[in-house]
Amino acid sequence: MIHLGFAVIPRKLVRLAQNEFKKEYFMRARTIESTFRFCPDCGLETQELGRVPFRCQRCGYSHFFGPVAAVGGLVVTEQKDLLMVRRAQQPGKGKWGLPGGFVDRGERIEEALAREVMEETGLTVGRSRYLISFPNLYDYRGVVAPVIDLFYLCVVSDSSEVVLDADELDQFVWAPPSQDRLDQMAFESNRKAIQYWMKNPNLSLFD
Ligand SMILES: [Zn+2]
Repeated sequence: MIHLGFAVIPRKLVRLAQNEFKKEYFMRARTIESTFRFCPDCGLETQELGRVPFRCQRCGYSHFFGPVAAVGGLVVTEQKDLLMVRRAQQPGKGKWGLPGGFVDRGERIEEALAREVMEETGLTVGRSRYLISFPNLYDYRGVVAPVIDLFYLCVVSDSSEVVLDADELDQFVWAPPSQDRLDQMAFESNRKAIQYWMKNPNLSLFD
C-alpha cells in the first residue's frame, strides 16, 4: 500500500495508473527525450535516441528529464463553490482548469501555490492543505514533457476580488463543479483532483 496524503491506494491501482500514463505519453508525436539527438555538452550524436536518462557515449553527460513539479489550487468557499478558470492560451485554450503552474527553482510548493493563485486571479491564499497528486503531460509546441501536479485545497481572504491575468485566462466561475465543465477540462489531472475532492466531503478546510 502507498500512502498519499489522505488516500491509501493499493499497489495494483498505482501500477495501472502508471501503465495508463506510459501509454498516453508514448502515443504523443514527440517526447522530450526524443529531441535530444545530440549531447547538449559535447555535441556527439546519440546512438540511443529516446533513452531515459539521456547519457552521452563520449563525455558521460546525463540528463534525467524530470518530471517537473507543478501546483494546482482547489480554491473553495464554505458553501463548496470551487474557483475554475478558463485558459486563453495553449495548451488547452478555451478549456477549464484550476489556478496553478510550474514551481520555480528554490521555491516551496506552498509558495508556488500562493504565487500562482495571486498571479492568475489576484487572490490571496489563506489556509491550505495538501490534497492529492496526479501525473500530467505538458505539450509545448508539440514536444511533450512529464509533469507531476500537486493539488492543494485552499481558501482565500476575499473571494469577491478576482482579477484574472488576461494574458493567460479569459473567464472564471465560482460554482460547484458541473459535469459539463468537468467534460471540458484542459488537463485530466485537474479533473481527477476535483473529482477526488467531490468524493471526499470530509476533506474540508472549514472543520
Ligand atoms: Zn557529450
